[in-house]
Amino acid sequence: MAPVTLPPSPVTPTVDFDRDGVQHGFLRLPYSRDDSAWGSVMIPVTVVRNGGGPTALLTGANHGDEYEGAVALFDLARTLTADRVAGRVIIVPAMNYPAFQAGTRTSPIDKGNLNRSFPGRPDGTVTQKIADYFTRDLLPQADLVMDIHSGGKTLDFVPFAAAHILPDKDQEARCFAAVAAFAAPFSMRMLEIDAVGMYDTAAEEQGKTFVTTELGGGGTGRAETIAIAKRGVRNVLRHAGILAGIPADGPPGDDRPAEASRWLDMPSADCFRFAEDNGLIEACVDLGQPVRKGDLLARIHPIGRTGLAPAEYRAALDGILAARHFPGLVKAGDCIAVVGTVEN
Ligand SMILES: [Zn+2]
Repeated sequence: MAPVTLPPSPVTPTVDFDRDGVQHGFLRLPYSRDDSAWGSVMIPVTVVRNGGGPTALLTGANHGDEYEGAVALFDLARTLTADRVAGRVIIVPAMNYPAFQAGTRTSPIDKGNLNRSFPGRPDGTVTQKIADYFTRDLLPQADLVMDIHSGGKTLDFVPFAAAHILPDKDQEARCFAAVAAFAAPFSMRMLEIDAVGMYDTAAEEQGKTFVTTELGGGGTGRAETIAIAKRGVRNVLRHAGILAGIPADGPPGDDRPAEASRWLDMPSADCFRFAEDNGLIEACVDLGQPVRKGDLLARIHPIGRTGLAPAEYRAALDGILAARHFPGLVKAGDCIAVVGTVEN
Protein backbone atom coordinates (compact mmCIF):
# COMPACT_ATOMS: atom_id res chain seq x y z
CA MET A 1 0.00 0.00 0.00
CA ALA A 2 1.40 3.40 -0.92
CA PRO A 3 2.00 5.70 2.06
CA VAL A 4 -0.71 8.28 2.52
CA THR A 5 0.58 11.85 2.37
CA LEU A 6 -1.32 13.93 4.87
CA PRO A 7 -1.80 17.66 4.39
CA PRO A 8 0.00 19.90 6.90
CA SER A 9 -1.71 20.67 10.20
CA PRO A 10 -4.04 23.68 10.11
CA VAL A 11 -2.64 24.73 13.51
CA THR A 12 -0.35 27.79 13.50
CA PRO A 13 1.82 28.35 16.57
CA THR A 14 2.44 32.00 17.44
CA VAL A 15 5.70 31.02 19.19
CA ASP A 16 9.00 29.95 17.60
CA PHE A 17 9.95 26.63 19.21
CA ASP A 18 13.60 27.08 18.17
CA ARG A 19 14.15 30.50 19.75
CA ASP A 20 15.92 30.94 23.08
CA GLY A 21 14.10 32.69 25.94
CA VAL A 22 10.55 32.61 27.27
CA GLN A 23 7.64 32.96 24.84
CA HIS A 24 3.96 32.94 25.74
CA GLY A 25 1.60 32.45 22.81
CA PHE A 26 -1.00 30.23 21.27
CA LEU A 27 -1.59 27.23 19.09
CA ARG A 28 -4.13 28.87 16.76
CA LEU A 29 -6.58 26.41 15.21
CA PRO A 30 -9.04 27.83 12.65
CA TYR A 31 -12.63 27.10 13.66
CA SER A 32 -15.28 28.75 11.49
CA ARG A 33 -18.65 29.01 13.21
CA ASP A 34 -21.84 31.07 13.51
CA ASP A 35 -20.45 33.67 15.92
CA SER A 36 -17.00 33.96 14.28
CA ALA A 37 -16.80 33.26 10.56
CA TRP A 38 -12.99 33.33 10.40
CA GLY A 39 -12.52 32.48 14.06
CA SER A 40 -9.99 30.26 15.80
CA VAL A 41 -9.51 28.16 18.92
CA MET A 42 -6.59 29.76 20.79
CA ILE A 43 -4.77 27.14 22.89
CA PRO A 44 -2.28 28.80 25.28
CA VAL A 45 1.32 27.59 24.97
CA THR A 46 4.60 28.57 26.57
CA VAL A 47 8.04 27.60 25.34
CA VAL A 48 11.13 28.14 27.49
CA ARG A 49 14.40 27.38 25.74
CA ASN A 50 18.04 27.82 26.65
CA GLY A 51 20.45 26.32 24.12
CA GLY A 52 20.71 22.68 23.18
CA GLY A 53 19.56 19.85 25.39
CA PRO A 54 16.52 17.68 25.90
CA THR A 55 12.95 18.84 25.29
CA ALA A 56 10.11 18.18 27.72
CA LEU A 57 6.52 18.46 26.48
CA LEU A 58 4.14 19.03 29.42
CA THR A 59 0.36 18.94 29.11
CA GLY A 60 -2.70 19.28 31.34
CA ALA A 61 -6.47 19.18 30.77
CA ASN A 62 -6.29 16.56 28.02
CA HIS A 63 -9.68 15.96 29.63
CA GLY A 64 -11.27 19.33 30.32
CA ASP A 65 -12.52 18.61 33.87
CA GLU A 66 -9.13 17.59 35.33
CA TYR A 67 -7.43 20.46 37.12
CA GLU A 68 -4.17 19.51 38.85
CA GLY A 69 -2.21 19.61 35.59
CA ALA A 70 -3.74 22.88 34.45
CA VAL A 71 -2.99 24.60 37.77
CA ALA A 72 0.57 23.27 37.99
CA LEU A 73 1.35 24.11 34.36
CA PHE A 74 -0.19 27.60 34.22
CA ASP A 75 1.92 28.22 37.36
CA LEU A 76 5.08 26.78 35.79
CA ALA A 77 4.55 28.74 32.55
CA ARG A 78 4.26 31.97 34.53
CA THR A 79 7.31 31.39 36.74
CA LEU A 80 9.88 29.42 34.74
CA THR A 81 12.82 31.51 33.48
CA ALA A 82 15.17 30.57 30.66
CA ASP A 83 18.31 30.84 32.79
CA ARG A 84 17.08 27.92 34.92
CA VAL A 85 16.60 25.65 31.89
CA ALA A 86 19.11 23.51 30.00
CA GLY A 87 17.28 22.54 26.83
CA ARG A 88 13.62 23.28 26.24
CA VAL A 89 10.26 23.04 28.01
CA ILE A 90 7.03 23.23 25.98
CA ILE A 91 4.00 23.80 28.22
CA VAL A 92 0.36 23.40 27.14
CA PRO A 93 -1.65 23.69 30.39
CA ALA A 94 -5.01 22.96 28.74
CA MET A 95 -4.56 20.60 25.83
CA ASN A 96 -8.26 20.16 24.93
CA TYR A 97 -8.90 23.87 25.41
CA PRO A 98 -12.57 23.91 24.31
CA ALA A 99 -13.33 21.12 26.83
CA PHE A 100 -11.33 22.94 29.52
CA GLN A 101 -13.29 26.16 28.94
CA ALA A 102 -16.55 24.22 29.23
CA GLY A 103 -15.39 22.26 32.31
CA THR A 104 -16.25 19.00 30.60
CA ARG A 105 -14.30 15.82 29.82
CA THR A 106 -15.03 16.02 26.10
CA SER A 107 -15.17 18.95 23.70
CA PRO A 108 -18.47 20.88 23.50
CA ILE A 109 -17.69 21.52 19.80
CA ASP A 110 -17.63 17.93 18.53
CA LYS A 111 -17.98 15.76 21.68
CA GLY A 112 -14.40 14.64 21.01
CA ASN A 113 -12.57 12.81 23.80
CA LEU A 114 -9.05 14.03 22.98
CA ASN A 115 -7.46 11.02 24.66
CA ARG A 116 -9.37 8.69 22.32
CA SER A 117 -8.68 10.80 19.20
CA PHE A 118 -5.01 10.00 18.46
CA PRO A 119 -3.25 9.98 16.07
CA GLY A 120 -5.86 12.48 14.86
CA ARG A 121 -6.58 13.95 11.45
CA PRO A 122 -5.54 17.29 9.91
CA ASP A 123 -8.87 17.34 8.03
CA GLY A 124 -11.05 16.04 10.88
CA THR A 125 -12.97 17.58 13.76
CA VAL A 126 -11.47 20.25 16.03
CA THR A 127 -10.49 17.56 18.55
CA GLN A 128 -8.94 15.36 15.83
CA LYS A 129 -6.98 18.39 14.55
CA ILE A 130 -5.55 19.03 18.04
CA ALA A 131 -4.51 15.37 18.28
CA ASP A 132 -2.92 15.47 14.83
CA TYR A 133 -0.90 18.59 15.70
CA PHE A 134 0.51 16.89 18.78
CA THR A 135 1.23 13.67 16.87
CA ARG A 136 3.01 15.19 13.89
CA ASP A 137 4.38 18.53 15.14
CA LEU A 138 4.91 18.56 18.92
CA LEU A 139 5.69 14.94 19.89
CA PRO A 140 8.54 14.62 17.34
CA GLN A 141 10.24 17.62 19.01
CA ALA A 142 10.12 16.03 22.50
CA ASP A 143 12.34 13.62 24.39
CA LEU A 144 10.23 13.49 27.54
CA VAL A 145 6.42 13.73 27.50
CA MET A 146 4.33 14.21 30.62
CA ASP A 147 0.51 14.34 30.51
CA ILE A 148 -1.13 15.17 33.84
CA HIS A 149 -4.55 13.59 34.38
CA SER A 150 -6.93 13.34 37.33
CA GLY A 151 -10.25 11.58 37.75
CA GLY A 152 -12.50 14.33 36.40
CA LYS A 153 -16.09 14.63 37.55
CA THR A 154 -16.85 10.89 37.65
CA LEU A 155 -13.73 9.25 39.18
CA ASP A 156 -11.43 9.82 42.15
CA PHE A 157 -7.93 8.31 42.50
CA VAL A 158 -5.19 7.91 45.06
CA PRO A 159 -2.50 10.25 43.69
CA PHE A 160 -0.14 8.36 41.39
CA ALA A 161 2.23 8.81 38.46
CA ALA A 162 2.20 5.96 35.97
CA ALA A 163 3.72 4.36 32.93
CA HIS A 164 2.87 1.31 30.86
CA ILE A 165 4.44 -2.07 30.28
CA LEU A 166 6.07 -1.63 26.84
CA PRO A 167 7.58 -4.03 24.27
CA ASP A 168 10.81 -1.97 24.22
CA LYS A 169 12.30 -2.67 27.66
CA ASP A 170 14.85 0.18 27.43
CA GLN A 171 12.03 2.62 26.78
CA GLU A 172 9.95 1.04 29.55
CA ALA A 173 12.85 1.49 32.00
CA ARG A 174 13.19 5.16 31.01
CA CYS A 175 9.46 5.68 31.58
CA PHE A 176 9.44 4.02 35.02
CA ALA A 177 12.57 5.95 36.06
CA ALA A 178 10.69 9.17 35.27
CA VAL A 179 7.65 7.90 37.20
CA ALA A 180 9.88 7.25 40.21
CA ALA A 181 11.38 10.74 39.87
CA PHE A 182 7.88 12.30 39.89
CA ALA A 183 7.65 10.93 43.47
CA ALA A 184 3.89 10.88 43.85
CA PRO A 185 2.66 9.03 46.95
CA PHE A 186 1.95 6.09 44.62
CA SER A 187 3.57 4.90 41.36
CA MET A 188 1.60 2.64 39.04
CA ARG A 189 2.36 0.04 36.40
CA MET A 190 -0.75 0.84 34.48
CA LEU A 191 -3.06 -1.37 32.48
CA GLU A 192 -5.30 0.47 30.02
CA ILE A 193 -8.78 -0.86 29.40
CA ASP A 194 -9.26 1.30 26.32
CA ALA A 195 -5.81 2.17 24.89
CA VAL A 196 -6.78 2.77 21.25
CA GLY A 197 -6.54 6.43 20.36
CA MET A 198 -4.69 7.50 23.50
CA TYR A 199 -2.04 10.24 23.54
CA ASP A 200 0.00 7.82 25.68
CA THR A 201 0.08 5.34 22.80
CA ALA A 202 1.04 8.00 20.24
CA ALA A 203 3.94 9.17 22.42
CA GLU A 204 5.10 5.65 23.24
CA GLU A 205 4.99 4.60 19.58
CA GLN A 206 7.38 7.46 18.82
CA GLY A 207 9.81 6.07 21.41
CA LYS A 208 9.33 8.91 23.89
CA THR A 209 9.83 8.70 27.63
CA PHE A 210 6.19 9.05 28.67
CA VAL A 211 4.73 9.70 32.12
CA THR A 212 1.08 10.09 32.94
CA THR A 213 -0.69 10.65 36.26
CA GLU A 214 -3.99 10.29 38.02
CA LEU A 215 -4.03 12.84 40.84
CA GLY A 216 -7.35 12.88 42.68
CA GLY A 217 -10.52 13.78 40.85
CA GLY A 218 -14.15 14.64 41.45
CA GLY A 219 -13.99 17.52 38.97
CA THR A 220 -11.84 19.77 41.16
CA GLY A 221 -8.26 20.11 42.40
CA ARG A 222 -7.31 19.77 46.06
CA ALA A 223 -4.43 21.54 47.83
CA GLU A 224 -2.69 18.20 48.44
CA THR A 225 -2.95 16.94 44.86
CA ILE A 226 -2.04 20.29 43.29
CA ALA A 227 1.11 20.36 45.45
CA ILE A 228 1.93 16.82 44.27
CA ALA A 229 1.54 17.95 40.64
CA LYS A 230 3.75 21.03 41.07
CA ARG A 231 6.43 19.04 42.85
CA GLY A 232 6.23 16.14 40.40
CA VAL A 233 6.70 18.39 37.37
CA ARG A 234 9.82 19.95 38.89
CA ASN A 235 11.13 16.54 39.90
CA VAL A 236 10.78 15.08 36.41
CA LEU A 237 12.42 18.13 34.81
CA ARG A 238 15.33 17.71 37.25
CA HIS A 239 15.49 14.00 36.48
CA ALA A 240 15.77 14.87 32.76
CA GLY A 241 18.59 17.32 33.47
CA ILE A 242 16.51 20.25 32.19
CA LEU A 243 16.29 21.88 35.64
CA ALA A 244 19.27 21.88 37.98
CA GLY A 245 19.19 19.77 41.14
CA ILE A 246 18.00 16.30 42.01
CA PRO A 247 14.38 15.16 42.31
CA ALA A 248 13.22 16.51 45.66
CA ASP A 249 10.20 15.96 47.78
CA GLY A 250 9.98 19.36 49.42
CA PRO A 251 9.16 22.93 48.39
CA PRO A 252 11.19 24.75 45.67
CA GLY A 253 14.83 24.97 46.68
CA ASP A 254 14.58 21.93 48.94
CA ASP A 255 16.95 19.38 47.44
CA ARG A 256 16.28 16.43 49.72
CA PRO A 257 16.02 13.18 47.78
CA ALA A 258 12.56 12.05 46.83
CA GLU A 259 10.79 9.89 49.39
CA ALA A 260 9.99 6.35 48.40
CA SER A 261 6.73 6.05 46.55
CA ARG A 262 4.52 2.97 47.00
CA TRP A 263 4.45 0.94 43.79
CA LEU A 264 1.12 -0.39 42.58
CA ASP A 265 0.42 -2.81 39.77
CA MET A 266 -2.67 -3.58 37.70
CA PRO A 267 -1.94 -7.20 36.78
CA SER A 268 -5.20 -7.95 34.97
CA ALA A 269 -8.68 -6.76 34.10
CA ASP A 270 -9.75 -8.20 37.51
CA CYS A 271 -8.57 -4.88 38.96
CA PHE A 272 -11.67 -3.17 37.56
CA ARG A 273 -15.21 -3.43 38.88
CA PHE A 274 -18.03 -2.20 36.64
CA ALA A 275 -21.61 -1.58 37.74
CA GLU A 276 -24.22 -3.96 36.39
CA ASP A 277 -27.00 -2.06 38.12
CA ASN A 278 -28.34 1.47 38.24
CA GLY A 279 -28.76 3.04 41.64
CA LEU A 280 -27.33 4.68 44.73
CA ILE A 281 -23.77 3.66 45.55
CA GLU A 282 -22.69 2.93 49.11
CA ALA A 283 -18.90 3.01 49.37
CA CYS A 284 -17.67 0.29 51.74
CA VAL A 285 -13.95 1.12 51.41
CA ASP A 286 -12.21 4.47 51.03
CA LEU A 287 -9.35 5.33 48.67
CA GLY A 288 -6.00 3.96 49.76
CA GLN A 289 -7.46 1.40 52.15
CA PRO A 290 -6.25 -2.20 51.90
CA VAL A 291 -8.67 -4.84 50.61
CA ARG A 292 -8.52 -8.63 50.36
CA LYS A 293 -10.00 -10.76 47.62
CA GLY A 294 -13.72 -11.17 48.39
CA ASP A 295 -14.00 -7.98 50.48
CA LEU A 296 -17.05 -5.85 49.87
CA LEU A 297 -16.08 -2.72 47.87
CA ALA A 298 -19.52 -1.16 47.39
CA ARG A 299 -23.23 -1.78 47.40
CA ILE A 300 -25.62 -0.38 44.80
CA HIS A 301 -29.07 0.23 46.19
CA PRO A 302 -32.10 0.21 43.87
CA ILE A 303 -33.84 3.59 44.10
CA GLY A 304 -37.15 2.88 42.36
CA ARG A 305 -38.82 1.62 45.54
CA THR A 306 -38.04 0.66 49.11
CA GLY A 307 -37.59 -2.86 50.39
CA LEU A 308 -35.18 -4.16 47.72
CA ALA A 309 -31.78 -5.65 48.53
CA PRO A 310 -28.66 -3.86 47.21
CA ALA A 311 -26.27 -5.49 44.75
CA GLU A 312 -22.86 -6.23 46.22
CA TYR A 313 -19.52 -5.64 44.48
CA ARG A 314 -16.45 -7.41 45.85
CA ALA A 315 -12.69 -7.25 45.27
CA ALA A 316 -11.34 -9.92 42.89
CA LEU A 317 -7.79 -9.64 44.25
CA ASP A 318 -5.76 -8.32 47.19
CA GLY A 319 -4.52 -4.73 47.08
CA ILE A 320 -5.65 -1.20 47.88
CA LEU A 321 -8.59 0.77 46.55
CA ALA A 322 -6.81 2.92 43.93
CA ALA A 323 -9.85 4.51 42.26
CA ARG A 324 -13.58 4.83 42.81
CA HIS A 325 -16.65 6.24 41.16
CA PHE A 326 -17.19 9.78 42.43
CA PRO A 327 -20.88 10.77 42.07
CA GLY A 328 -23.39 9.17 44.41
CA LEU A 329 -25.60 7.73 41.67
CA VAL A 330 -24.27 5.12 39.25
CA LYS A 331 -25.44 3.59 35.99
CA ALA A 332 -24.84 0.10 34.66
CA GLY A 333 -21.46 0.13 32.90
CA ASP A 334 -19.86 2.77 35.14
CA CYS A 335 -16.44 1.90 36.55
CA ILE A 336 -17.12 1.86 40.29
CA ALA A 337 -13.78 0.68 41.71
CA VAL A 338 -10.18 -0.13 40.76
CA VAL A 339 -8.03 -2.29 43.04
CA GLY A 340 -4.26 -1.92 42.58
CA THR A 341 -1.94 -4.59 43.91
CA VAL A 342 0.84 -3.38 46.20
CA GLU A 343 4.45 -4.13 45.26
CA ASN A 344 6.19 -2.57 48.26
ZN1 LIG B 1 -8.00 12.22 32.05
